Amino acid sequence: MANVVALITGASRGIGESIAMEFARAGVNVILNYNRHCLMAEKIADKIREKYDVDVLCIKADVSNEEEVEAMVNQAVDTFGKIDILVNNAGICNDSLLLDKSVPNFRRILDVNLIGTFLCSKYVAKVMLDRGGGKIINIASTNAIDTYYPESCDYDASKAGVISLTHNLAREFSPDISVNCVCPGWVKTDMNEELSIEQIREEENKILLHRFAEPEEIAKVVVFLASSKASYINDSIIRVDGGKFNG
Ligand code: NAP
Repeated sequence: MANVVALITGASRGIGESIAMEFARAGVNVILNYNRHCLMAEKIADKIREKYDVDVLCIKADVSNEEEVEAMVNQAVDTFGKIDILVNNAGICNDSLLLDKSVPNFRRILDVNLIGTFLCSKYVAKVMLDRGGGKIINIASTNAIDTYYPESCDYDASKAGVISLTHNLAREFSPDISVNCVCPGWVKTDMNEELSIEQIREEENKILLHRFAEPEEIAKVVVFLASSKASYINDSIIRVDGGKFNG
């Protein structure tokens, strides 16, 4: 994919880092958005520059903050002149029982996961429409479709919102912009670092492939969706979860 520019939110680690690496491997210029981990984002950028002949830019922005998102998109366009691909990957979770959840904490999950996806899509879609189109890929979760643990009810609601937003973005922007959504199951990232070995084994036993995904296994699906190989895939919600015994 030559002369293509992708903006990946939440690219300072985890799945976002892998998506950035996979795009770079495919020859795509990448913009790595991050919120708190500047050094980690810059290290990934250096790694990409060493390995691949593409341009890389890191931009700090809290995706839930409209001014910061607008500034990020302006900086991206000032640098590259366009954005062909947007991956709304930035996300957070904060598990606790519903009775222990506060309104600010619940709202923060919605703000980052759902409002962040809305804001980045809004500002990037304007750029894409001005320049002939593009592709948006949202990262939701199987939690948006199945209910597993009430501790993540805020996260699940935010990701169900991302699926709904995917359908509405596709209606508003097709045929200029294709919009799809990837729903990972368990993935080996910092997001799951608090799970005990016993919990991991228990969850692995519910997966037909008996293991959590490597971040690269999600990233490859995202890069496929952004490529011409997926030219007729639009408005789709794609599970990448290894298959589940229960639900
Ligand atoms: P992770 O390792 O915790 O990384 C999260 C990324 O999101 C980091 O780069 C972080 O940047 C960024 N981020 C957080 N808040 C942000 C904000 N307000 N503005 C901009 N960036 C922000 O998570 P992950 O596991 O890679 O998850 C990536 C996506 O996949 C998320 O949407 C998550 O919900 C989804 N997902 C993950 C799993 C899983 O099992 N891991 C399963 C299903 C879906 P900084 O560190 O720089 O702040």
